[in-house]
Amino acid sequence: MRNLILVLGDQLDANSAAFNDFDSDQDAVWMAEVEEEATHVWCHKQRLVFFFSAMRHFRDELRQKDIEVFYHELSHDRRRDSGNSFAEILNQDINRHRPRQLVVVLPGDYRVKHQLQQVASDANLILDVRPDDHFYCAPDEFEQFAKGRKRLVLETFYRQMRKKHDILMDGNKPVGGQWNFDEDNRDAFGKQGPGKITGPHSFRPDELTQSVMDMVRQRYPQHPGCLDKFDLPVTRRQAQAMLRDFIKRSLSDFGQYEDALWTDEPFLYHSRLSAPLNVKLLDPRDCVDKAVQAFEDGDAPINSVEGFVRQILGWREFVRGVYWKFMPGYGEQNEFGHDRPLPRFFWDGDTDMRCVHQSMQHVLDFGYAHHIHRLMILGNLALMLGVDPQAFHQWHMAMYSDAVDWVSLPNALGMSQHAEGGIVGTKPYVSTGNYINRMSNFCGSCPYNYQAATGKDACPFTTLYWDFLDRHHEQLKQNHRMAMQLKNLDRKRKSGDIEAIRKQAHQTKSRLLAGAKPHADLIRS
Ligand code: FAD
Ligand code: SF4
Repeated sequence: MRNLILVLGDQLDANSAAFNDFDSDQDAVWMAEVEEEATHVWCHKQRLVFFFSAMRHFRDELRQKDIEVFYHELSHDRRRDSGNSFAEILNQDINRHRPRQLVVVLPGDYRVKHQLQQVASDANLILDVRPDDHFYCAPDEFEQFAKGRKRLVLETFYRQMRKKHDILMDGNKPVGGQWNFDEDNRDAFGKQGPGKITGPHSFRPDELTQSVMDMVRQRYPQHPGCLDKFDLPVTRRQAQAMLRDFIKRSLSDFGQYEDALWTDEPFLYHSRLSAPLNVKLLDPRDCVDKAVQAFEDGDAPINSVEGFVRQILGWREFVRGVYWKFMPGYGEQNEFGHDRPLPRFFWDGDTDMRCVHQSMQHVLDFGYAHHIHRLMILGNLALMLGVDPQAFHQWHMAMYSDAVDWVSLPNALGMSQHAEGGIVGTKPYVSTGNYINRMSNFCGSCPYNYQAATGKDACPFTTLYWDFLDRHHEQLKQNHRMAMQLKNLDRKRKSGDIEAIRKQAHQTKSRLLAGAKPHADLIRS
């Protein structure tokens, strides 16, 4: 055998660089479902089904093209496993098939890249790591962008990308006269709510997916989440149908209500495309081009289209650049020295805080929550409680079907927990219950009062917000974007209100963290 092409669970693209010079007479593909990857974080059942089902469908597509695929399935019976880790299983196959070279596209996880390099080196083989052409911006290009800059600012990067790829450009100027329509993308629904929303395209599990579901139910019964509502796309054809459907039905309202929240509406006008995008069932260029086409055809307004393009061409590429620039040390940072475990309700949603319960319901039902649930409810609360940022990231990796290290780490540990001191986000995303009340209808049916920082019905968000600013005052005052918030804190300090808030915060934290167990204990429970 000449090349053994390693295809990882988030690399399901037969047009990737790994297949560039593929010759079915001398090359073969290697894929493996691996116990260690399924359990190194306590994975949501939907995440497991999504990855394994998409992998098996991809394997079958390759085989239909007469490509030889060595595939290791996990089964109900652990005794039939080929091994526990990538390294173990791959080693056996190297000995069996004796390839001259291993080929892989740059993995989306530093840890996996390192593992594969180790296996190759132990076997005395070259590992040809090829670029991941799925992205607009390669790590080297991002390095060039970062060179000499004191701060990495999304907006600067995003404008460069718009110009370079000629997206929403009118000559040298941005289409619509401005680069950014963020101001138009923050509406709430008002009392009447969003009305009937049909949500993203949903796919009934086929026979293959159902067999994976059975396996996951039997093999990982203790893992969080449930499978009853599993409806993600698991093939390229389905992913493309989902994209077309989003462009047709949801894109036009996407921008205006991008930050809005509503009871029992997990998706609203969001695309839910992150999971298929991240396993490469979809190409980001396809998403961007179709959205721009909708604008040009007069089917979607500029604030929606620019907002969607910014998320994909801007944020998605930016966080990947940050990941590769700062790894491996990036994940070790802990700006605020936070060390608390995650409260138990992050795994089962069992809390009387209405907003948190809603966010967790989405996560448990779909392995999904939209960005404001992630940032301004779950992330906000974890940060103000002082949760260990690594634990928050690991939780995120476990619970979301779209989580891959390169995108989860900068978002969870960086943007949300501000643990790297502001590389991704320019300030910590913390808020009182006031913000949540403005953007949702949750507070009206919650036992807490979003305005109260103290007292029996004090909203935990409001109490913990002032406590967070108070505790980290010295660090935060270096950040000019926090000036207004710290000025308000000063008022609370001068009036003496802060004493009662500190006391209340202590009680709130003890209550919310009671019963919280470190991640490892939960796995065994
Ligand atoms: P839409 O709102 O429809 O947005 C369109 C697309 O833009 C998304 O599909 C996604 O590909 C891209 N996008 C938007 N925001 C970001 C962002 N900040 N970073 C990267 N891509 C973005 N996204 C992931 O794909 N995987 C993760 O593991 C992940 N972890 C996150 C953790 C936290 C704490 C936060 C605050 C955000 C995280 N995000 C992550 C970003 C974002 O929340 C999700 O991409 C988005 O909610 C996915 O839903 P959607 O497909 O409906 O997105
Ligand atoms: Fe959440 Fe506080 Fe509103 Fe309750 S009152 S829903 S805890 S923000």
